[in-house]
Amino acid sequence: MFKQRIEQALEEREERGLLRKIHKLERGNLFEFRQTTDSVVNYSSNDYMGLASDKQLTQVWQEGLDRYGNGSGSSPLVTGYNNVHSELEETLCDWLGFERAILFNSGFSANQALLFTLLEKGDLLLQDKLNHASLIEAGMLSPATMKRFKHNDVEHLKRLLTDCALVATEGVFSMDGDLAPLADISHAVDGKGWLAVDDAHGIGVVGREGRGSCDYAGVKPTILIVTFGKAFGLSGAAILCDRYVGEYLTQFARHYIYSTSMPLAQAGTLTEAAKMLRSDEWRREKLSELNHYYDQLFESFDGYIKTHTPIKPMILGDSARAVTVANKLRAEGHWVTAIRPPTVPEGRARLRLTLTVNHTRSHLEQLAQSLQHVLKEVR
Ligand SMILES: *Cc1c(COP(=O)(O)O)cnc(C)c1O
Repeated sequence: MFKQRIEQALEEREERGLLRKIHKLERGNLFEFRQTTDSVVNYSSNDYMGLASDKQLTQVWQEGLDRYGNGSGSSPLVTGYNNVHSELEETLCDWLGFERAILFNSGFSANQALLFTLLEKGDLLLQDKLNHASLIEAGMLSPATMKRFKHNDVEHLKRLLTDCALVATEGVFSMDGDLAPLADISHAVDGKGWLAVDDAHGIGVVGREGRGSCDYAGVKPTILIVTFGKAFGLSGAAILCDRYVGEYLTQFARHYIYSTSMPLAQAGTLTEAAKMLRSDEWRREKLSELNHYYDQLFESFDGYIKTHTPIKPMILGDSARAVTVANKLRAEGHWVTAIRPPTVPEGRARLRLTLTVNHTRSHLEQLAQSLQHVLKEVR
Protein backbone atom coordinates (compact mmCIF):
# COMPACT_ATOMS: atom_id res chain seq x y z
CA MET A 1 0.00 0.00 0.00
CA PHE A 2 2.74 2.45 0.97
CA LYS A 3 4.78 1.59 -2.10
CA GLN A 4 1.85 2.15 -4.44
CA ARG A 5 0.99 5.45 -2.82
CA ILE A 6 4.57 6.66 -3.08
CA GLU A 7 4.93 5.64 -6.74
CA GLN A 8 1.69 7.37 -7.60
CA ALA A 9 2.67 10.62 -5.88
CA LEU A 10 6.06 10.66 -7.62
CA GLU A 11 4.58 9.91 -11.04
CA GLU A 12 2.03 12.65 -10.65
CA ARG A 13 4.70 15.20 -9.78
CA GLU A 14 6.77 14.14 -12.74
CA GLU A 15 3.82 14.35 -15.16
CA ARG A 16 3.08 17.88 -14.02
CA GLY A 17 6.71 18.85 -14.55
CA LEU A 18 7.11 19.64 -10.86
CA LEU A 19 9.65 17.03 -9.84
CA ARG A 20 12.31 18.63 -7.68
CA LYS A 21 15.94 17.83 -8.11
CA ILE A 22 18.78 17.93 -5.59
CA HIS A 23 21.87 19.56 -7.04
CA LYS A 24 25.18 18.25 -5.84
CA LEU A 25 27.61 21.16 -5.68
CA GLU A 26 31.30 20.53 -5.78
CA ARG A 27 32.30 23.14 -3.23
CA GLY A 28 30.67 25.12 -0.48
CA ASN A 29 27.57 27.21 -1.11
CA LEU A 30 29.65 30.26 -1.89
CA PHE A 31 28.71 33.14 -4.08
CA GLU A 32 30.77 31.63 -6.84
CA PHE A 33 31.33 27.90 -7.23
CA ARG A 34 32.39 25.28 -9.73
CA GLN A 35 30.22 22.89 -11.67
CA THR A 36 32.57 20.44 -13.41
CA THR A 37 34.94 22.90 -15.06
CA ASP A 38 32.86 26.05 -15.23
CA SER A 39 32.61 28.77 -12.66
CA VAL A 40 29.07 29.79 -11.78
CA VAL A 41 27.86 32.88 -9.94
CA ASN A 42 25.32 31.98 -7.27
CA TYR A 43 22.07 33.99 -7.20
CA SER A 44 20.23 31.38 -5.17
CA SER A 45 21.64 31.57 -1.66
CA ASN A 46 20.16 33.44 1.29
CA ASP A 47 23.63 34.55 2.32
CA TYR A 48 22.73 38.23 1.85
CA MET A 49 25.55 39.62 3.97
CA GLY A 50 28.27 37.26 2.77
CA LEU A 51 28.84 35.81 6.24
CA ALA A 52 28.57 32.16 5.12
CA SER A 53 32.02 32.49 3.60
CA ASP A 54 33.41 35.31 5.73
CA LYS A 55 37.00 34.47 6.72
CA GLN A 56 36.90 36.35 10.01
CA LEU A 57 33.84 34.37 11.06
CA THR A 58 35.43 31.09 9.98
CA GLN A 59 38.33 31.89 12.24
CA VAL A 60 36.03 32.55 15.19
CA TRP A 61 34.42 29.15 14.59
CA GLN A 62 37.80 27.41 14.37
CA GLU A 63 38.97 29.01 17.60
CA GLY A 64 35.67 28.02 19.21
CA LEU A 65 36.25 24.39 18.26
CA ASP A 66 39.66 24.48 19.89
CA ARG A 67 38.26 26.08 23.00
CA TYR A 68 34.97 24.17 23.45
CA GLY A 69 35.31 20.93 21.48
CA ASN A 70 32.70 19.56 19.10
CA GLY A 71 29.15 18.97 20.27
CA SER A 72 27.21 20.38 23.24
CA GLY A 73 26.65 16.86 24.52
CA SER A 74 23.03 17.17 25.57
CA SER A 75 19.81 19.12 25.55
CA PRO A 76 19.70 22.55 27.21
CA LEU A 77 17.89 21.54 30.41
CA VAL A 78 20.32 18.72 31.08
CA THR A 79 23.92 19.82 30.57
CA GLY A 80 23.78 21.34 27.08
CA TYR A 81 23.44 24.97 28.10
CA ASN A 82 26.58 27.00 28.54
CA ASN A 83 27.82 30.56 29.07
CA VAL A 84 28.38 30.71 25.34
CA HIS A 85 24.68 30.07 24.68
CA SER A 86 23.62 32.66 27.22
CA GLU A 87 26.00 35.21 25.74
CA LEU A 88 24.37 34.70 22.34
CA GLU A 89 20.92 35.15 23.91
CA GLU A 90 21.99 38.32 25.68
CA THR A 91 23.57 39.73 22.53
CA LEU A 92 20.31 39.15 20.64
CA CYS A 93 18.18 40.66 23.44
CA ASP A 94 20.39 43.73 23.65
CA TRP A 95 20.41 44.26 19.89
CA LEU A 96 16.73 43.59 19.26
CA GLY A 97 15.22 44.94 22.48
CA PHE A 98 13.62 41.89 24.10
CA GLU A 99 13.86 40.38 27.59
CA ARG A 100 14.44 36.81 26.55
CA ALA A 101 15.80 34.84 23.62
CA ILE A 102 15.35 31.06 23.37
CA LEU A 103 17.66 29.21 20.98
CA PHE A 104 16.63 26.50 18.54
CA ASN A 105 18.49 24.41 16.01
CA SER A 106 16.41 25.63 13.10
CA GLY A 107 13.78 28.17 12.19
CA PHE A 108 11.51 25.30 11.27
CA SER A 109 11.63 23.86 14.78
CA ALA A 110 11.36 27.32 16.41
CA ASN A 111 8.11 28.00 14.55
CA GLN A 112 6.71 24.58 15.35
CA ALA A 113 7.69 24.92 19.01
CA LEU A 114 6.08 28.35 19.27
CA LEU A 115 2.71 27.44 17.79
CA PHE A 116 2.45 24.02 19.43
CA THR A 117 3.32 25.40 22.86
CA LEU A 118 1.31 28.60 22.81
CA LEU A 119 -1.93 27.50 21.19
CA GLU A 120 -4.76 25.52 22.71
CA LYS A 121 -8.10 24.25 21.48
CA GLY A 122 -10.50 27.11 20.91
CA ASP A 123 -7.73 29.66 20.14
CA LEU A 124 -7.73 31.52 16.87
CA LEU A 125 -4.57 31.62 14.79
CA LEU A 126 -4.47 34.01 11.84
CA GLN A 127 -1.69 33.65 9.32
CA ASP A 128 -0.76 35.41 6.13
CA LYS A 129 -1.56 33.05 3.26
CA LEU A 130 2.05 33.16 2.05
CA ASN A 131 3.69 32.37 5.39
CA HIS A 132 6.55 29.88 5.38
CA ALA A 133 5.66 26.17 5.30
CA SER A 134 6.93 25.71 8.87
CA LEU A 135 4.32 28.17 10.21
CA ILE A 136 1.45 26.98 8.04
CA GLU A 137 2.09 23.35 8.86
CA ALA A 138 2.45 24.03 12.58
CA GLY A 139 -0.82 25.94 12.47
CA MET A 140 -2.61 23.06 10.77
CA LEU A 141 -1.29 20.54 13.28
CA SER A 142 -1.93 22.73 16.33
CA PRO A 143 -5.18 22.37 18.28
CA ALA A 144 -6.16 25.98 17.45
CA THR A 145 -8.50 27.08 14.67
CA MET A 146 -6.36 28.45 11.88
CA LYS A 147 -7.49 30.93 9.27
CA ARG A 148 -5.39 32.49 6.59
CA PHE A 149 -5.77 36.09 5.51
CA LYS A 150 -5.00 37.21 1.98
CA HIS A 151 -1.40 38.15 1.49
CA ASN A 152 -0.62 41.49 3.17
CA ASP A 153 -4.36 42.30 3.25
CA VAL A 154 -4.96 44.10 6.54
CA GLU A 155 -8.66 44.66 5.82
CA HIS A 156 -9.15 40.93 5.42
CA LEU A 157 -7.16 40.33 8.61
CA LYS A 158 -9.41 42.77 10.49
CA ARG A 159 -12.53 40.94 9.32
CA LEU A 160 -11.21 37.64 10.65
CA LEU A 161 -9.83 39.07 13.86
CA THR A 162 -11.78 38.47 17.06
CA ASP A 163 -10.49 38.82 20.60
CA CYS A 164 -7.75 36.46 21.71
CA ALA A 165 -6.05 35.72 18.45
CA LEU A 166 -2.46 35.04 17.60
CA VAL A 167 -1.52 36.72 14.34
CA ALA A 168 1.55 35.37 12.56
CA THR A 169 3.25 36.93 9.56
CA GLU A 170 6.65 37.02 7.98
CA GLY A 171 8.49 40.34 7.98
CA VAL A 172 9.93 39.85 4.49
CA PHE A 173 8.26 37.26 2.28
CA SER A 174 10.77 34.82 0.97
CA MET A 175 9.37 34.20 -2.51
CA ASP A 176 8.25 37.75 -3.35
CA GLY A 177 10.77 39.80 -1.41
CA ASP A 178 8.03 42.17 -0.27
CA LEU A 179 7.56 43.55 3.24
CA ALA A 180 4.52 42.91 5.41
CA PRO A 181 2.58 46.11 6.32
CA LEU A 182 3.66 45.61 9.91
CA ALA A 183 2.60 49.03 11.21
CA ASP A 184 -1.00 48.47 10.04
CA ILE A 185 -1.04 44.85 11.17
CA SER A 186 0.31 45.77 14.59
CA HIS A 187 -2.30 48.51 14.91
CA ALA A 188 -5.10 46.09 13.98
CA VAL A 189 -3.93 43.43 16.42
CA ASP A 190 -3.29 45.86 19.27
CA GLY A 191 -5.52 45.08 22.26
CA LYS A 192 -7.03 42.06 20.50
CA GLY A 193 -4.26 39.55 20.52
CA TRP A 194 -0.60 38.91 20.02
CA LEU A 195 1.55 39.47 16.99
CA ALA A 196 4.33 37.04 16.06
CA VAL A 197 6.71 38.07 13.27
CA ASP A 198 9.03 35.60 11.57
CA ASP A 199 11.81 37.84 10.28
CA ALA A 200 14.04 35.15 8.77
CA HIS A 201 14.81 37.29 5.70
CA GLY A 202 14.68 40.74 7.30
CA ILE A 203 16.99 40.39 10.28
CA GLY A 204 20.42 41.88 9.62
CA VAL A 205 19.22 43.18 6.24
CA VAL A 206 16.74 45.99 6.90
CA GLY A 207 16.09 48.38 9.78
CA ARG A 208 18.45 50.50 11.86
CA GLU A 209 21.57 48.53 12.72
CA GLY A 210 19.99 45.61 10.86
CA ARG A 211 17.29 45.11 13.47
CA GLY A 212 14.93 43.86 10.79
CA SER A 213 11.52 44.62 9.36
CA CYS A 214 9.85 45.38 12.70
CA ASP A 215 12.33 48.14 13.40
CA TYR A 216 11.93 49.36 9.82
CA ALA A 217 8.16 49.60 10.35
CA GLY A 218 8.51 51.05 13.85
CA VAL A 219 6.67 48.22 15.61
CA LYS A 220 7.49 45.82 18.41
CA PRO A 221 5.74 42.47 18.11
CA THR A 222 5.03 40.31 21.14
CA ILE A 223 7.14 37.58 19.58
CA LEU A 224 9.94 37.80 17.06
CA ILE A 225 11.47 34.79 15.35
CA VAL A 226 14.93 35.20 13.83
CA THR A 227 16.79 32.50 11.96
CA PHE A 228 20.53 32.10 11.57
CA GLY A 229 20.59 30.38 8.16
CA LYS A 230 20.19 33.56 6.13
CA ALA A 231 21.99 36.83 6.92
CA PHE A 232 23.86 35.22 9.85
CA GLY A 233 25.46 32.80 7.38
CA LEU A 234 25.20 29.80 9.72
CA SER A 235 22.15 27.92 11.01
CA GLY A 236 19.81 27.81 13.98
CA ALA A 237 17.16 30.24 15.23
CA ALA A 238 15.86 32.14 18.22
CA ILE A 239 12.49 33.19 19.57
CA LEU A 240 12.58 36.64 21.18
CA CYS A 241 9.91 37.47 23.73
CA ASP A 242 9.28 38.77 27.24
CA ARG A 243 10.45 36.88 30.30
CA TYR A 244 7.11 35.15 30.90
CA VAL A 245 6.81 33.70 27.42
CA GLY A 246 10.50 32.82 27.65
CA GLU A 247 9.97 30.90 30.87
CA TYR A 248 6.88 29.22 29.42
CA LEU A 249 8.78 28.05 26.34
CA THR A 250 11.65 26.82 28.51
CA GLN A 251 9.20 24.72 30.53
CA PHE A 252 6.93 23.46 27.77
CA ALA A 253 8.46 23.74 24.27
CA ARG A 254 9.28 20.14 23.36
CA HIS A 255 11.49 21.10 20.40
CA TYR A 256 13.64 22.96 22.90
CA ILE A 257 13.58 20.54 25.83
CA TYR A 258 14.08 17.29 23.93
CA SER A 259 16.67 18.35 21.37
CA THR A 260 20.45 18.57 21.66
CA SER A 261 21.48 22.20 21.98
CA MET A 262 23.66 23.72 19.28
CA PRO A 263 27.44 23.22 19.53
CA LEU A 264 29.14 25.84 21.70
CA ALA A 265 31.48 26.85 18.91
CA GLN A 266 28.44 27.56 16.74
CA ALA A 267 26.78 29.65 19.44
CA GLY A 268 29.99 31.64 19.88
CA THR A 269 30.25 32.19 16.13
CA LEU A 270 26.63 33.33 16.03
CA THR A 271 27.36 35.91 18.72
CA GLU A 272 30.13 37.27 16.53
CA ALA A 273 27.84 37.18 13.47
CA ALA A 274 25.17 39.15 15.39
CA LYS A 275 27.75 41.78 16.30
CA MET A 276 28.92 42.02 12.69
CA LEU A 277 25.36 42.34 11.40
CA ARG A 278 24.74 45.09 13.90
CA SER A 279 27.87 47.11 13.26
CA ASP A 280 28.88 46.42 9.63
CA GLU A 281 26.83 49.18 8.06
CA TRP A 282 28.93 48.88 4.89
CA ARG A 283 27.30 45.54 4.12
CA ARG A 284 23.83 47.08 4.06
CA GLU A 285 25.12 50.03 2.04
CA LYS A 286 26.70 47.74 -0.53
CA LEU A 287 23.50 45.75 -0.81
CA SER A 288 21.44 48.88 -1.24
CA GLU A 289 23.76 50.05 -4.02
CA LEU A 290 23.37 46.72 -5.82
CA ASN A 291 19.63 46.93 -5.28
CA HIS A 292 19.48 50.25 -7.16
CA TYR A 293 21.69 48.95 -9.92
CA TYR A 294 19.50 45.86 -10.27
CA ASP A 295 16.46 48.12 -10.71
CA GLN A 296 18.23 50.11 -13.41
CA LEU A 297 19.28 47.02 -15.33
CA PHE A 298 16.16 44.90 -14.99
CA GLU A 299 13.15 47.22 -14.77
CA SER A 300 12.46 46.97 -18.49
CA PHE A 301 12.10 43.15 -18.35
CA ASP A 302 8.65 41.54 -18.42
CA GLY A 303 8.01 40.02 -15.00
CA TYR A 304 10.32 42.45 -13.17
CA ILE A 305 9.13 43.37 -9.69
CA LYS A 306 10.61 46.16 -7.60
CA THR A 307 11.50 45.16 -4.05
CA HIS A 308 13.13 46.85 -1.08
CA THR A 309 14.98 43.65 -0.18
CA PRO A 310 17.72 41.56 -1.84
CA ILE A 311 15.07 39.02 -2.96
CA LYS A 312 14.23 39.60 -6.62
CA PRO A 313 11.40 37.68 -8.24
CA MET A 314 11.06 37.66 -12.03
CA ILE A 315 7.59 36.28 -12.80
CA LEU A 316 7.50 34.03 -15.86
CA GLY A 317 4.12 32.35 -15.27
CA ASP A 318 4.57 28.93 -16.80
CA SER A 319 6.54 26.29 -14.83
CA ALA A 320 8.21 24.67 -17.83
CA ARG A 321 9.33 28.04 -19.15
CA ALA A 322 10.77 29.06 -15.80
CA VAL A 323 12.77 25.83 -15.62
CA THR A 324 14.09 26.15 -19.17
CA VAL A 325 15.13 29.75 -18.62
CA ALA A 326 16.89 28.84 -15.34
CA ASN A 327 18.74 25.95 -17.04
CA LYS A 328 19.91 28.16 -19.88
CA LEU A 329 21.11 30.84 -17.48
CA ARG A 330 23.01 28.21 -15.53
CA ALA A 331 24.71 27.05 -18.71
CA GLU A 332 25.90 30.64 -19.12
CA GLY A 333 27.31 30.84 -15.61
CA HIS A 334 24.43 32.28 -13.55
CA TRP A 335 22.92 30.00 -10.91
CA VAL A 336 19.31 31.16 -10.68
CA THR A 337 16.52 29.04 -9.22
CA ALA A 338 13.16 28.44 -10.87
CA ILE A 339 10.46 28.46 -8.20
CA ARG A 340 7.31 26.56 -9.10
CA PRO A 341 4.03 25.53 -7.53
CA PRO A 342 3.32 24.38 -4.85
CA THR A 343 5.93 26.78 -3.41
CA VAL A 344 4.24 29.64 -5.28
CA PRO A 345 0.64 29.82 -6.63
CA GLU A 346 -0.27 28.21 -9.99
CA GLY A 347 0.62 30.43 -12.93
CA ARG A 348 3.14 32.39 -10.87
CA ALA A 349 6.26 30.34 -11.58
CA ARG A 350 9.29 32.56 -11.45
CA LEU A 351 12.98 33.00 -11.27
CA ARG A 352 14.07 33.93 -7.79
CA LEU A 353 17.32 35.86 -7.60
CA THR A 354 19.00 36.94 -4.43
CA LEU A 355 21.65 39.60 -4.20
CA THR A 356 24.52 39.36 -1.73
CA VAL A 357 27.34 41.71 -0.78
CA ASN A 358 29.69 39.48 -2.78
CA HIS A 359 28.04 40.31 -6.10
CA THR A 360 29.42 43.13 -8.21
CA ARG A 361 27.92 45.50 -10.75
CA SER A 362 29.66 43.57 -13.47
CA HIS A 363 28.03 40.29 -12.33
CA LEU A 364 24.64 41.95 -12.67
CA GLU A 365 25.48 43.35 -16.11
CA GLN A 366 26.44 39.90 -17.36
CA LEU A 367 23.27 38.42 -15.90
CA ALA A 368 21.11 41.07 -17.57
CA GLN A 369 22.74 40.37 -20.94
CA SER A 370 22.16 36.63 -20.65
CA LEU A 371 18.60 37.03 -19.45
CA GLN A 372 17.79 39.32 -22.35
CA HIS A 373 18.63 36.80 -25.02
CA VAL A 374 17.46 33.73 -23.09
CA LEU A 375 14.00 35.24 -22.61
CA LYS A 376 13.78 35.86 -26.36
CA GLU A 377 14.76 32.26 -27.13
CA VAL A 378 12.33 30.68 -24.68
CA ARG A 379 8.87 31.94 -25.52
C1 LIG B 1 14.15 29.82 6.07
C2 LIG B 1 12.90 30.13 6.84
C3 LIG B 1 12.51 29.36 7.94
C4 LIG B 1 13.23 28.10 8.32
O1 LIG B 1 14.41 28.38 8.93
P1 LIG B 1 15.56 27.26 8.99
O2 LIG B 1 16.47 27.75 10.02
O3 LIG B 1 16.15 27.19 7.62
O4 LIG B 1 14.86 25.98 9.38
C5 LIG B 1 11.43 29.77 8.66
N1 LIG B 1 10.72 30.86 8.31
C6 LIG B 1 11.04 31.60 7.24
C7 LIG B 1 10.22 32.78 6.89
C8 LIG B 1 12.14 31.24 6.47
O5 LIG B 1 12.45 31.95 5.38
